[in-house]
Amino acid sequence: MTHPTLSIVAPVYNEEEILPEFYTRVSEVMTKLDITWELILVNDGSRDRSMEIMFSIAAEDDHVRVVNFARNFGHQVAVTAGIDHAEGDAVILIDADLQDPPEVIGDMLQKWREGYDVVYAVREQREGESWFKLTTAKLFYRMLYRITDVDIPVDTGDFRLMDAKVAQVLRDMREHNRFIRGMTSWVGFRQTGVKYVRHARKAGETKYPLRKMLRFALDAVTGFSYFPLQVMVYLAGFLGILAIVVAIVISILRLTQGPDFFGGQATTIILLLLLSSFQLFFLFIIGQYVARIYDETRDRPLYVVASRRGFPEQNGSAAPTRHGRTHKPEVEQVAD
Ligand code: UDP
Ligand code: MG
Repeated sequence: MTHPTLSIVAPVYNEEEILPEFYTRVSEVMTKLDITWELILVNDGSRDRSMEIMFSIAAEDDHVRVVNFARNFGHQVAVTAGIDHAEGDAVILIDADLQDPPEVIGDMLQKWREGYDVVYAVREQREGESWFKLTTAKLFYRMLYRITDVDIPVDTGDFRLMDAKVAQVLRDMREHNRFIRGMTSWVGFRQTGVKYVRHARKAGETKYPLRKMLRFALDAVTGFSYFPLQVMVYLAGFLGILAIVVAIVISILRLTQGPDFFGGQATTIILLLLLSSFQLFFLFIIGQYVARIYDETRDRPLYVVASRRGFPEQNGSAAPTRHGRTHKPEVEQVAD
């Protein structure tokens, strides 16, 4: 197998219905583009037949490699493992559910050849998503853009091409709560976008329920902004000034209207509840940062590999992680 120009990385979690078609579409596009390539499928602890399907594809086509996780580690970590294993001069991140059309890879390649180091795909239109997802995503990306110092382009997902040198920087960024689209923007170099229409999922359902989406959003915000921590000082200032004003107004009213003016427990109770709610909310925010600090200090490996298939240097035994790590290597379980 010659050195691949392009490494295509796809995370896979319970995609048995789509995998064969995904593979066919990718290999068709690659054959047309006429370059050397590898497809790295990361099995993120699928519970359906995805693993068997991937193994059999890898057995038949030596472009295909499989990294098989010991359990589900999440989409962003699966993508990370794919990047860790990629050998290409450029790496493409793409979802396995065919929402990101492989045909766009041609456009990305062209921009890369023009000299860009990151080519991200911008969703011009999104098909088959709920109103709720569209609206929250739109608001979220615009909010994120305002509160972060890194310019994370709006309406982009992880579907992107990155030059090998960008991939190498990402390999050294071992943070545990990962927001890869932000991390690639953070790296810098020459970046540009290509527009595309994001299709509906081919089959199966989204693996991002609301709970995971919220967590992902928190990773994005905490990973790239201190704004939620800083905003507390404004609220503190506002409430402090309000307290002084209210104290003065009530004093004057009591001096002029009599000592019983503005009495009553109800107001006190309401204010107490309101302020407790503010305080708990901000404790939650602080907790989010603290929990992430804890994740970093424990410094566990990002993922555990159970087995690998289709890697060139594999002679019956497990191949080592192909790229040297400046930090701790990912944990390796014995290959089957
Ligand atoms: N995925 C994964 N691990 C997970 C969840 C998702 O590897 O825990 C993969 C999934 O198979 C797909 C991609 O990540 O290839 C994007 O997931 P999905 O399509 O469910 O997200 P959505 O497009 O709905 O945001
Ligand atoms: Mg999807």
